[in-house]
Amino acid sequence: MKIDRRHVLKFLGGSALGTALSPLPWKVLDDVSIWTQNWSWIPVPPKGETVIRHTTCALCPAGCGVKVRCIGTQPVALSGLPGHPTSHGFLCPGGLLGHHLPYDPRRITQPVRLDSAAHQSVSRSPEQILSDLGKALARLKTDASAGRFAIIDSLPGRSTSLAYRQLASQFPGGTYIVPADGIKKSLCVFNGVFGAAYPELGIDVERAGSILSFGADLFEGWGTPGRLLRKQQESDAGLRLTQIEPRYSNTAAMAESWLPIWPGTEPILALGLAGVIIREKAFNPGLSPAIDALNQISDFRDLLAALPPERTAEICGISAEAISRTAQEIAAHPPCLALLGGSYSGGPFGEDDYLSVNLLNLLTGALGAEGGLVPRRALPEIDPPVANLASPTDLAGVPDESIGFLMIDGTVARQSIPSAVLRRKLVRDKAVVVSFSSVATEYADLSHYVLPVPVYLEAFQEIPTAPDFPVAAFSFSVPLLSPPPAATSPVEWVNRLAGSARLDWAPLSTEALAEARIKAISGCKRGSVYSYADGAMKSNSDFASAEELGKAFRSGASWLDSAPDPVKPELTKLPYFQPETWGRLKRQVNQRIEVRSKPADETVTLMPFATAFVATASPLAGKLTRESDLYPRAGDALISPSTASRLALQEGQRAELETGKGRLGVRIRLNEAAVPGTVFVPISGSDADPRNLCEISEDSIWRATPAKLRRLDV
Ligand code: SF4
Repeated sequence: MKIDRRHVLKFLGGSALGTALSPLPWKVLDDVSIWTQNWSWIPVPPKGETVIRHTTCALCPAGCGVKVRCIGTQPVALSGLPGHPTSHGFLCPGGLLGHHLPYDPRRITQPVRLDSAAHQSVSRSPEQILSDLGKALARLKTDASAGRFAIIDSLPGRSTSLAYRQLASQFPGGTYIVPADGIKKSLCVFNGVFGAAYPELGIDVERAGSILSFGADLFEGWGTPGRLLRKQQESDAGLRLTQIEPRYSNTAAMAESWLPIWPGTEPILALGLAGVIIREKAFNPGLSPAIDALNQISDFRDLLAALPPERTAEICGISAEAISRTAQEIAAHPPCLALLGGSYSGGPFGEDDYLSVNLLNLLTGALGAEGGLVPRRALPEIDPPVANLASPTDLAGVPDESIGFLMIDGTVARQSIPSAVLRRKLVRDKAVVVSFSSVATEYADLSHYVLPVPVYLEAFQEIPTAPDFPVAAFSFSVPLLSPPPAATSPVEWVNRLAGSARLDWAPLSTEALAEARIKAISGCKRGSVYSYADGAMKSNSDFASAEELGKAFRSGASWLDSAPDPVKPELTKLPYFQPETWGRLKRQVNQRIEVRSKPADETVTLMPFATAFVATASPLAGKLTRESDLYPRAGDALISPSTASRLALQEGQRAELETGKGRLGVRIRLNEAAVPGTVFVPISGSDADPRNLCEISEDSIWRATPAKLRRLDV
């Protein structure tokens, strides 16, 4: 199915109208009416008074503002808030149907012990489970062979994160792991360039002159969808977006142009574009001294000289003319934001990708400019600070086979990491894996225990700054429903586990930590607070007290920090001005060119990709999208007609994908959207997860893997 801009806007334009206009086939509507009559878990709203309440969506880090229509106390419809300063009235389909989550048929309401090999739960009382886990934790303190304690935080920056970090600090080698958010990881290249007052960077996408997206799924999960959709709708010139990726994704359908490059050649194209910009002196004029300094580095000169448009085009699989035209366009519409994304589920990029793509942000003057990458303050720290905190660690930095006890915060589903990547980090056959989740299917092939937690609309949860925001921001997702009695906040589980393990532990409380955060925001006196109920924007300093500010937050409000004071980037701090960076980059890029230059054989390149989480978060939306074929289903293998012809495969045939890691049965789907020679398989449940077939590099990268694809029924 060919998807165009109109199609995508209809599906993403979060409103009741957007849903009504969405292209879901009529068969699906028929199904809905049947299900709503027969599914016991579909909520039947009580009759009663209509009440409007407000909250913040907690399903992903974007934190969109939500208006909730309730009948009595029962939420029956969610919609966006048009005046919301970051979501601008949009809710993605997952957010629109977030009130279905409490009724998920897979919901667990008691702690569960899983036998992952047998795919079933084991009968064990909650007290026995807590006692088992307490003993396993206590062993880590005394027995070095038991491995280290580690916890993965799906949404860092909350007060809950402080509880996780403090728990990790209780164990020798205890590790607090932050999943590699694609946006944050990419911006790390510029860490420290704006001084200590601005430890982070944000993205001023609203004022960008043009956008060059290297695989960032801008309309299906990257950052805050409402920001780009509003820009798209309000700008006469459109987005001036060039999408660079090997699949005609929904974001590619929304772009001015699509460059279908070969997987893994992103840094080569970025360096090729940088070469054109430098040779044609189309860089930001203020950068002349910096370019002179770069030209003193021989590896820099050599690398760019080796990638003229013709050679770059040959490697990347696009035309030299497209490269020259793209370089001219981005230079003509500054500042150009060069964004490197890819959903985390689809696989992180590597260091050479980040360095190469961000070189374009430097050359076009996007660093520190309005409409570019802007300095951002951190959220005000709570005072007194929570003591003894383990430092955040990237998963790639954790040695293989070192984790003896792993806790996974599965409360923000979008941050899922492939089980194969995690399994590699576990002490073989001995590690204990516990996940905090509302469903037993999350990491079911890996977890030994699942501890139930409240879902969105049942939990009081902090929503810290989203990775793409240009300024720090904060809000609460407030509960509108009661969770099942045994579904407890992760902080409370941490308290109970620490007690069961007899750790030296002063219990923490979600409420107390939240109060401390409100006090810190109130104390900084900066920024403004947007009230969801009346759409008013009020200065933070106009709130008489932290209590008054807290009251506003609890009825639905977002705080946004004020814009930074003018500050110039200290370019000399950037890795680009260190000769060894270019030596390393040259080696990495040459390796990629070598792989690409190998003659084609019978293999294809396996690319797992995330179907829009935003469209499948709710059990009902998941069923709708699967059965309507609006999105690919689990086990579909998307290949181009020319690849199908080369491998003698046809639409709908059963086939098998094989890599060095295993095999997966798939159904062939012919799709012009896939670059010839690639096979795209959607990420899905644990059994059919194509990421488990991927080669995982030393630095936990798993984007593209050579695979064999053959028919099963001959
Ligand atoms: S899931 Fe994310 S993008 Fe969708 S409505 Fe919620 S916060 Fe917004």
